[in-house]
Amino acid sequence: MASHYHITLKIRRYDPENRRSWIQNYHLEAGRILRFVDLFRKINNEQDPTFSWNSSCEHGQCGTCSVKINGKPLLACELLVENAVQYFNTPVFNVEPLEVAPVVRDLVFDLTKAYKRIDQVKPYVISPANPPSDQDEYSISPNEMKQYINATRCINCFCCSSACISSHRNFLGPNAMLASMIRVLDPREKEKAQRLKILYGHRGVYRCHSSRACSFVCPKEIDVAHFVALAKAGRFNDPNNE
Ligand code: SF4
Ligand code: SF4
Repeated sequence: MASHYHITLKIRRYDPENRRSWIQNYHLEAGRILRFVDLFRKINNEQDPTFSWNSSCEHGQCGTCSVKINGKPLLACELLVENAVQYFNTPVFNVEPLEVAPVVRDLVFDLTKAYKRIDQVKPYVISPANPPSDQDEYSISPNEMKQYINATRCINCFCCSSACISSHRNFLGPNAMLASMIRVLDPREKEKAQRLKILYGHRGVYRCHSSRACSFVCPKEIDVAHFVALAKAGRFNDPNNE
């Protein structure tokens, strides 16, 4: 395993002032355990301060550094140089923004517009339910709890939406559907009917082609396609089903 690599990043740039898009090549010497966010920062510090990209926690928990590397949506903070060279079998990487919302500049896309799909499913408790009269707490079956915890690991990085072949404007997209299913599973939520109408409506689960691309790219290893398949099978029409 080499300790350093000669890396080429072919980055899709966008200049909103002149509405100009182009591919810019950057050549870097990179240590094997640098992450792609480190490479972006290195470009800013050493070559080009005008190059724009997005990140926040840089620990795989906030979902703001999502980009496409050689066509695969992923988190730039989680991809090490040596893993990238090995996985893609090349030191040359095409870097593009996710196309889930309009690009603001270079690798930065409009998160407000991306979140509109999530907003449509109302990812919060609409109408709080009281615990059962004979109990002072909400109850949930172990199986549902397992699914609930699994689904709530989503960080809304939009990698799944970017990979989804059905993710055009008439489809809610995998992470929005997941956000909806979380609240259907949530025993604190009384308002299930409104949610099911959206989930099973014309923009919902039946637009999914079952390609499983969402599960393949999810950095939190959530089997999103499995949740969608359960929904298609009617699982969430009756949340008491095991
Ligand atoms: S389901 Fe996975 S890929 Fe999709 S937004 Fe959530 S964390 Fe990202
Ligand atoms: S399984 Fe469905 S939701 Fe997931 S990527 Fe494929 S079409 Fe999209």
